[in-house]
Amino acid sequence: MQKIPTVCVVGSLNMDLTITTKKIPKQGETVIGEVFETYPGGKGANQAVAAARLGANVTMIGAVGADTFGDSLLENLSREGINVEGISKISDVATGVASIIMSDHDNRIIVASGANAYVTLELVDQYQEQIRHSDIVLVQLETPIESIVRTIEIANEYDVPVIVNPAPYQVLPDKILSGCTFLTPNEIELEAMEQESLSDSIREKIILTKGAEGVQFFENGKSKVVKSHNVKVADTTGAGDTFNGALAARLGGGASLADAVYYANAAAALSVTKLGAQSGMPTDEEVKRFIE
Ligand code: ATP
Repeated sequence: MQKIPTVCVVGSLNMDLTITTKKIPKQGETVIGEVFETYPGGKGANQAVAAARLGANVTMIGAVGADTFGDSLLENLSREGINVEGISKISDVATGVASIIMSDHDNRIIVASGANAYVTLELVDQYQEQIRHSDIVLVQLETPIESIVRTIEIANEYDVPVIVNPAPYQVLPDKILSGCTFLTPNEIELEAMEQESLSDSIREKIILTKGAEGVQFFENGKSKVVKSHNVKVADTTGAGDTFNGALAARLGGGASLADAVYYANAAAALSVTKLGAQSGMPTDEEVKRFIE
């Protein structure tokens, strides 16, 4: 029996605004689409929800605007049992949004980061107790890089392990590469990382998610592969976020790396069998039933 882990996520919250359409408008053209829907998103919030569904105590540090999208994102996280005290409401700034045009052949996404840019050094310092008192910290790259560096400094000072999900990819400063415990790129992000010179000790921190090919990681200096589960795919959106949330929940609970990767690979496989990012994320019971 694992202990209940406490996971601190420092990251983004967005409202995803999705229009499905048969036709993508050309330059200067207006088309009448089909359905408009709003979904809570942002990599930080998605990963927080994944970890919470799997039974972790989750605290989140982030920022929303003082607007209705912000209120609704906070309500959504609270409903998932996530501690939102560390999420600031910034006045005169809009909550982060992703405007998504979805058609059968082509998805187009534009993100306005809004309040996510206000996850500052000062904000991280203000809620640093949450970092210090967690079993593991999980960050992505949708909030300012200097606040991620600060998060890692605080975590290092208190020996709290840190998972960095380098998405969307940007060049990582040495302080992040050397201060983190694990890096979880997908194949595209790894390709971008390979453009930088990575030392062997950094390479061994990499847990590579390979979509339907599973996961590759290092154990005692040796590369290991966990094959993906053969499942009927409904929607792969959020597979990576589910993987990261699950990995954090499991490692935070004291599992070995191999066990945590095995578990996260199963949780992510279940998530692709359902539509939506957060709505497809499984519970701990569902994952256990699936792997038994
Ligand atoms: P996304 O951006 O779609 O959320 P990602 O590109 O960050 O995902 P992937 O490497 O595509 O991440 O997927 C993460 C993990 O999800 C994989 O390592 C695997 O465990 C699981 N997964 C993804 N696709 C499939 C699939 N088709 N079948 C089974 N498992 C899958």
